[in-house]
Amino acid sequence: MKYRSVRGMHDILPEAIGRWKVVEEKIKELMIRYRYHEIRPPLLEYTELFKRGIGEDSDLVGKEMYTFPDKRGRSLTLRPEATASVVRAYLEHGIYAKEPLQKLYYLGPMFRYEKPQKGRSRQFHQYGVEAIGSIDPALDVEVIDIAWALLEELGLSGLSLRLNSIGCQADHKRYRQELKDYFTTRLESMCENCQQRCRTNPLRILDCKKEECQLHIQSAPASVDYLCSDCSRHFTAVRNYLEQLNLAYVIDPHLVRGLDYYTRTVFELISSHLGAQDSLLGGGRYDNLVEIFGGPSTPAVGFAGGMERLILVLQKRKERTNVMVRPDLFIAALGDESRPLVISLAQQLRRKDISLDIDYRSRSLRKQMTYANQINARNIIVIGPDEIASGTGRIKDMDSGLERKVSLKPAEIQAAMEK
Ligand SMILES: [Zn+2]
Ligand SMILES: [Zn+2]
Repeated sequence: MKYRSVRGMHDILPEAIGRWKVVEEKIKELMIRYRYHEIRPPLLEYTELFKRGIGEDSDLVGKEMYTFPDKRGRSLTLRPEATASVVRAYLEHGIYAKEPLQKLYYLGPMFRYEKPQKGRSRQFHQYGVEAIGSIDPALDVEVIDIAWALLEELGLSGLSLRLNSIGCQADHKRYRQELKDYFTTRLESMCENCQQRCRTNPLRILDCKKEECQLHIQSAPASVDYLCSDCSRHFTAVRNYLEQLNLAYVIDPHLVRGLDYYTRTVFELISSHLGAQDSLLGGGRYDNLVEIFGGPSTPAVGFAGGMERLILVLQKRKERTNVMVRPDLFIAALGDESRPLVISLAQQLRRKDISLDIDYRSRSLRKQMTYANQINARNIIVIGPDEIASGTGRIKDMDSGLERKVSLKPAEIQAAMEK
């Protein structure tokens, strides 16, 4: 084989598409109920957008972006996530002038230059929602409720919500200093990365998975102890609404999420489906991002989840979500002289919204029948010299085994299948 796909980028083959569609269709259906509208930003943005929005010292921007110059030397980046693009679009098109609160969702590929490993590829897919234009804590809870409904309606059990508030920028600053003071005295027994993080952004230490660091992280100061009265009230309201809606949560005092733009509410939704503890999606508020991008002060909240992760979890269920769409009909041709009629009927029936297939490989009648079974056709009709001579054929319903005599006219074949 001479050509292979780019490392870390995978084909999604037809036999796997069924599972993708189950998830995509559920998302689309749910978004109609919650009245979120789809937005499709381009896959490429100017690099500056992500540097400004996500933060230059994050791993995502510092190490994992697909960045390259275009022919004029401008730095472009394949989007590593979609929030920055959605907010850019919100501003660029002045959508807020018409209706300040915009509820949007997206689905699509993202790109991160990471070490490819199981469950992690360089082109991956995310779905997410962004509700831009309101500080209302009920909106935080609506976004969490969407996430919850999605996973629940897809059949995932054992859902639990990890929740935290990291406050506004002023709170952030105080908390950051507190963390710095706390970790500085412990750095000697912590990993090299964290020693660096302590200087650049001590919040990032909280995401470290290394055992030697976890020890210190567990008793580190909690962000909720540094909230101003506004942020504290907001967080209380979020919790009250969650309780009212029976969305159970646990406060995780060290949940901060890796991106710079988060403020106030942050959350992750975990499923213990089939024993695993999978964090399937996460999000939070980003009340300053619109302003950082040069817009008016505009609070916002959203979440994003990985499609591959979700599909992997769903795959563990033994359900057959991967079957390809069943054709309504297979028209078998007996002998070359019947092909012109078979080809005409196929065209006319397909135009009548019938899904069907015929043979394109000069197979024997027996092999055509085997193939029709393999693709699980609902009905089969054989057209040969006898059928052409009489102008009639027999259509067989493969589920019931019943056969019906029909004249070889598209409308009658269609009517026979509907009986
Ligand atoms: Zn605050
Ligand atoms: Zn560490």
